[in-house]
Amino acid sequence: MSLTQNLKDISATVRTLAIAKDKSELLELLVSAREDALALQEENSNLKKQIESYDRFDKEMENYIRISINGYNIYQNNEDSVLYACPHCVKEHKKIHFLQGASFQCPSCKTFFPWNASHQ
Ligand SMILES: [Zn+2]
Repeated sequence: MSLTQNLKDISATVRTLAIAKDKSELLELLVSAREDALALQEENSNLKKQIESYDRFDKEMENYIRISINGYNIYQNNEDSVLYACPHCVKEHKKIHFLQGASFQCPSCKTFFPWNASHQ
């Protein structure tokens, strides 16, 4: 085999290796892009669920009015005036938890709202 032929073979081999390397890098990029797309789909799905949850919460809050009792700002149910929603959970967590017991404690955040309910 001539030196010229050897150089051509080596050159062809180098080109082949370069193409293979490019393909390998391209494949890695595709895999990475697919992983990114899947992560974005999951994030999108979670955000849609969160929006639906907020929409349900907003709809449910239409049944409440904000009242002030002895300095406590709380949410009272329109249809059942003895149901009070914890203002902390409404504001911070967009959740409705009814205050319970004589001291009107939130079952979730455990905050007390110890007003005297008999004044109403
Ligand atoms: Zn609470």
